[in-house]
Amino acid sequence: MTIHVDPDRLRDDFDALAAIGATADGGIERLALTPAHLEARAWFLRRASEAGLETVVDAAGNHSAILPSTAPDAPTLLLGSHLDSVPRGGRFDGALGVLAALEVLRVVQAERLELPVALEAIDFSDEEGTLVGLLGSLAAAGALDADMLAAPRGGRKALLAALARAGLDEARLIDARRDPRTLAGYLELHIEQGPVLEQAGVQIGVVTAIVGSRSLELVFEGASAHAGTTPMAARRDAGLGAARFVDRVHETVSSGFPGTVATVGSIELEPGAFNVVPGRARVLLEFRAGTAAELDRLEQRLLDEARSVAAAQRLELQARPVGRWEPTALDPSVRAVIAAAAASLGLSTQELASGAGHDAQALAQVTRAGMIFVPSVGGVSHQPGELTPWQDCVNGADVLLQSALGLALGGPT
Ligand SMILES: [Zn+2]
Repeated sequence: MTIHVDPDRLRDDFDALAAIGATADGGIERLALTPAHLEARAWFLRRASEAGLETVVDAAGNHSAILPSTAPDAPTLLLGSHLDSVPRGGRFDGALGVLAALEVLRVVQAERLELPVALEAIDFSDEEGTLVGLLGSLAAAGALDADMLAAPRGGRKALLAALARAGLDEARLIDARRDPRTLAGYLELHIEQGPVLEQAGVQIGVVTAIVGSRSLELVFEGASAHAGTTPMAARRDAGLGAARFVDRVHETVSSGFPGTVATVGSIELEPGAFNVVPGRARVLLEFRAGTAAELDRLEQRLLDEARSVAAAQRLELQARPVGRWEPTALDPSVRAVIAAAAASLGLSTQELASGAGHDAQALAQVTRAGMIFVPSVGGVSHQPGELTPWQDCVNGADVLLQSALGLALGGPT
């Protein structure tokens, strides 16, 4: 007989967690290592303890519930995601994966299944990148490098303040590294955050890869000038350069780079006044693609466009790389286990790549890793209106359970 997660217990947890950091518009805000996030993590450990599971917090602040194996020297199968959120985020992103992982441990425990692996439900620190991005999972994978900490996306000040709030020591973050020989794999259930599964009418997504991304800061430098006395033809308008560049980015990617995306997410003009021609424009560009070769090609082409726009407006251009995530292929054998688990539950599946980054990309560097997606209504995510129908959440948790059993019983390598 197939065992299942308890949908009511999972729902109770989901509602209790969504109340922590809840916003008036139905979303949540739990920025990494802020009081709301720390409260959610404490709540998670309490729920784990109440279930009789072991709990542990590592040197990177990752919070775990553990169901040990009776087998000696059993490796650990990690089931995880994250409890932090973006500003004004939704209730499902990350939270579903952590809660489903906890539920899997409770079911396996209640069924008294003897597995040759320990099961660990893990909540990784700072997945969303308020501070560093994948801070906890990179630390666990032994891939947290000094440069990321020296120049974190959220700034040094924010990082140090957050670590202090959480009682973490920057020098010890790397101690969270897990010896790959102690790991039996990593599974993550997550909402898709895009429209593919819903539009296809498919219940479960089997993730093939996580796209890579690069971020660049571009500065167009012209000359500030009086907005009333400087003729149009005499201007070196950095704002105009930035605006033309946005248009070129969209055109270039739409027409020549299918399956990739690029975004100018921010433009800051200086000095920034009604009556001054902007002399400086700081542009934040990010682009994503499934392979490193495609990322290289895209980067080259977008920089060419920026140079051409700058030359046409007589602007100086500086480009500085500020972030880089390599594309990550997920393990084919884990994908097969997930697909088989879904099939055994009578659920439809589709393979797809993830356009968003996830903790799985860090873990995939050191252990076999796989991801399970469930549909996002309207593809909406990172917003309060984020929604996955409850039955889809339960389906995903059941697939996580069956996949965990499939990996555990299929051998711990
Ligand atoms: Zn997430």
